[in-house]
Amino acid sequence: MSSLAESDPEVYEIIELERSRQVNGLELIASENVVSKAVLEAVGSIMTNKYAEGYPGKRYYGGCQYHDMVENLARDRLCKLFGAEHANVQAVSGSQANQAVYFAYMKHNDVMMSQDLSQGGHLSHGSPVNITGKWYSVSHYGVDHETEMLDYASIAEQARKIKPKMIVCGASAYPREIDFKAFQEIAEDVGAYCMADIAHIAGLCATGVHNSPVGVVNFTTSTTHKTLRGPRGGIIMCNDEYAADIDRSVFPGMQGGPLMHVIAGKAVCFQEALQPSFTEYAKQVVKNARAMAETLLDEGFDLVSGGTDNHLILLDLTNIGLTGLEAENLLGDAGITVNKNTIPRETRSPFVTSGLRIGTPAVTSRGMKEDEMKQIALFIARVLKDPENTTMTADVKEEVKGLASGFTLYPDEVC
Ligand SMILES: *Cc1c(COP(=O)(O)O)cnc(C)c1O
Repeated sequence: MSSLAESDPEVYEIIELERSRQVNGLELIASENVVSKAVLEAVGSIMTNKYAEGYPGKRYYGGCQYHDMVENLARDRLCKLFGAEHANVQAVSGSQANQAVYFAYMKHNDVMMSQDLSQGGHLSHGSPVNITGKWYSVSHYGVDHETEMLDYASIAEQARKIKPKMIVCGASAYPREIDFKAFQEIAEDVGAYCMADIAHIAGLCATGVHNSPVGVVNFTTSTTHKTLRGPRGGIIMCNDEYAADIDRSVFPGMQGGPLMHVIAGKAVCFQEALQPSFTEYAKQVVKNARAMAETLLDEGFDLVSGGTDNHLILLDLTNIGLTGLEAENLLGDAGITVNKNTIPRETRSPFVTSGLRIGTPAVTSRGMKEDEMKQIALFIARVLKDPENTTMTADVKEEVKGLASGFTLYPDEVC
């Protein structure tokens, strides 16, 4: 019996319920993934027992020799993975990585430009409800009304008018490739810094499946737990000239002691991402998103921007007559986990929305390919086109379970 089951059966039982949800359902949340057993083991290790404030070789506590080793390993592997000059692996989340960059180079009320949350951006890019929106003066850019894609000429024009201190690019719900070089040029033109937040697409950028901003823009931030398939956490990469400012901004500027067990897990993740098999994985993630997009288009769904270049699809449900909230709940009843999402020119609140975000990273990690994506797209179509039919939804749930059972989360797992 596991020690957790023995000492705390209540928590153990909850974890087992969640395991069963993950095993029997289909996770299509674009920002989620399934980490390896090796990452799980590192994150669940005794590295959590130690305080290691500071950086390797300059800690505020004794006994950090092995923590220095693991943090150096994580930094070196991350630099190798992206060809970066400098890496900081201590940010506890993507949001904190972003805050650390802002805090290093902007003062209170300085002007920043970023993609609007309701058009694909992220809370930590200066949303009014986030500390970044309260602390800095924010001017948002959106997507073009016709193409629903970024329009670099209009972003450049806005930058010339606004004269921001920093231009942020990167998104949470944008299905198209982002031109990081164009953003850096726009920033340089107006004397601004450029930060690229690749939280969603880091795994694609690391493998050349999407162009990489590292070495192109001034600062690259990311999470490690989305397409990069590591433990929950944040990272920052930059050239050596910014290294000291960035490190100081993370600690002691923003955070206390680093999560050393997570840094160990990040080191494992970066090594996995350096393997050729991870490049194959990243390519398959995109192929899978395309296959799903094609089937959904065939089924009469509207896709924001008409398709996808990356790991995610944004459905505009207006023509289907459902809200994002209704669609999320209906698919949830069928064992398919997705999230409601605002679409360009959204008319509903963020709690209701007119769109749905669908991502392929997690199901691709389970080994699913194009055929399974087509099957899943047909499940989605059946459920959303006949919302009153609860018998059919229950049938789909059984079929989902059947499909999922052929693709275990972990090789030795018993369902
Ligand atoms: C997910 C995400 C983040 C934040 O990550 P957290 O670890 O949840 O703080 C930041 N930026 C973008 C673009 C994201 O998609």
